[in-house]
Amino acid sequence: MSTQTHEGRVAVVTGAARGIGQAIARRLAERGATIVAIDLASPDETLALIDESGQVAVGRTVDVSDPEQVAAVGAGIVREFGRADILVNNAGILPHIGIDELDYATWRRILAVNLDSQFLMVKALLPAMRERGWGRIVNLTSNSIITTQANLSHYMASKMGAIGFTRGLANDVAADGITVNAVGPTLSRTPGALLEHSEEALRAAAASQAIKRNGEPDDVAGTVAFLTSDDASFVTGQTIMADGGYARL
Ligand code: NAD
Repeated sequence: MSTQTHEGRVAVVTGAARGIGQAIARRLAERGATIVAIDLASPDETLALIDESGQVAVGRTVDVSDPEQVAAVGAGIVREFGRADILVNNAGILPHIGIDELDYATWRRILAVNLDSQFLMVKALLPAMRERGWGRIVNLTSNSIITTQANLSHYMASKMGAIGFTRGLANDVAADGITVNAVGPTLSRTPGALLEHSEEALRAAAASQAIKRNGEPDDVAGTVAFLTSDDASFVTGQTIMADGGYARL
């Protein structure tokens, strides 16, 4: 059986320079997709890893919370490749901040990066998906939407927003052959998460899961590969927690 389930597809992955986004980009490339790796930072490491495995990837340095930059990169992708089949809205930030310290500018920034970016990327690429009558959109959420941990109100609001956006958008684009789903990782060993979480927090997260080890970036990639394949053509509006059995929706 061929593993090239994504052959001929162009897959756009945001936050692809490291962590979970990098793992998703590599997995979709292994399955045969051409990758557009978008990040605020240079995605060169991701491009080199994909190149080593003989697949094709290009990088774009973009702030996905900036409407003008996103519109320009979307137009550029469609111009260059003539299509955009798959969009994985993975870019996200997680500073722990309590409600007393959380000011409006920080709240806006987190909502802009974690949620507005998903809307902006969809607006930029949806016409290209519609044109071909086929598309796959995956929005990253988080199993922390059920946590009792403090200092995450802004983050939880953005990740619940991603689920709501996923459900609503799925209704709007179903007739165009486009599915929209959300995927929620658990606390995982990524550069971003390791900056924010102690070893004790990582141990506590693993202990709360059915599968008692910490998540790795690769743990999310398989679920995204499934949801962006033809195999998932009848799956839409769903949130799947790829989180070792921590949150059960
Ligand atoms: P990470 O911080 O390791 O990597 C995130 C990437 O996104 C970085 O390369 C960063 O440069 C990029 N990025 C940030 N802001 C951006 C912007 N404005 N424009 C473009 N790129 C931007 O993060 P991660 O841990 O790999 O997380 C990936 C996704 O998974 C996020 O949406 C996060 O909320 C979610 N998530 C992560 C965990 C975890 O424990 N790692 C758990 C649940 C959910």
